Amino acid sequence: MSSAAIIDGKSFAAALRGRIAASVPEFIAQSGRKPGLAVVLVGDDPASQVYVGSKKKATVEAGMDSFEYRLPEDTAQADLISLVERLNADDHVDGILVQLPLPPHMDDKAVIAALDPAKDVDGFHVVNAGRLAVGEDAFVPCTPLGCLMLLKDRIGDLSGKNAVVIGRSNIVGKPMAQLLLAENCTVTIAHSRTQDLAEVVRRADIIVAAVGRAEMVRGDWIKQGAVVIDVGINRLAPAPGETKGRLVGDVAFAEAVAHSAAITPVPGGVGPMTIACLLRNTLVAAHRRAGLAHPE
Ligand code: NDP
Repeated sequence: MSSAAIIDGKSFAAALRGRIAASVPEFIAQSGRKPGLAVVLVGDDPASQVYVGSKKKATVEAGMDSFEYRLPEDTAQADLISLVERLNADDHVDGILVQLPLPPHMDDKAVIAALDPAKDVDGFHVVNAGRLAVGEDAFVPCTPLGCLMLLKDRIGDLSGKNAVVIGRSNIVGKPMAQLLLAENCTVTIAHSRTQDLAEVVRRADIIVAAVGRAEMVRGDWIKQGAVVIDVGINRLAPAPGETKGRLVGDVAFAEAVAHSAAITPVPGGVGPMTIACLLRNTLVAAHRRAGLAHPE
């Protein structure tokens, strides 16, 4: 049995960020301003704070303006929506990202619905989800967009491939399936009610696992030569002597390398692509709003 190539999402993402940063000066020269991303965080969820911090750093490193809004946990939903409406109207803001999850007293859907779809760089607004579904130009959620880039880089033409997406969330699974369908794959979407998942996965040339269950996909589920994209981020319980448990994906990596042609590691696979694609979507939004053709 051969050993899989490891898909280096970290360096792919770094190269994408480099290309984005390189095209920002031209945008500034043409439009007279920097592209701008506003990130809104409500409450003090530690994981969300880390994500927001990394997004800010990456935005500034790409030469874009970063506008950060940190609101207290008990902010009223109406006040958050007023802020979103102000950002919709602000000419310096090209992209708006409201960090999810919101506190329990808020309705994520109502807040996302308040976003101007032209600034919805996360691609969560129903207008963007609908455009993706009917094959129109849309902002596509960053994680599945990053997965597609890695797949196309590895495989080239995806036409006719059997793809199995495990997970059907609006953020990852469903848009991933839409993207693969648009690439002419034969797509199966699996979820918690799918029967005989191992058999379903065995038919796949492409497997995208977006479940949130540590090492659920076993090596012997994977057809020899399949390409595996592992979106899952799961922290194991600490082993004796460790303070923090290891991060693992939804795929049993050590087993999967013996079966697959190529696989993304966790960490260092899909994760870094998410922020790079957020910058890409922001740059695209900036070009569209300025009436300019976007570079990629
Ligand atoms: P959700 O919890 O929203 O969705 C999980 C999906 O997995 C659901 O559709 C669910 O099915 C399905 N599922 C649950 N159990 C099983 C099972 N036993 N067999 C088959 N399917 C199952 O998660 P997300 O889509 O938001 O995220 C998925 C994973 O990806 C998480 O680990 C998350 O941390 C990670 N993630 C990583 C990102 C990155 O940047 N790398 C970004 C976003 C997410 P059902 O619909 O029937 O309940």
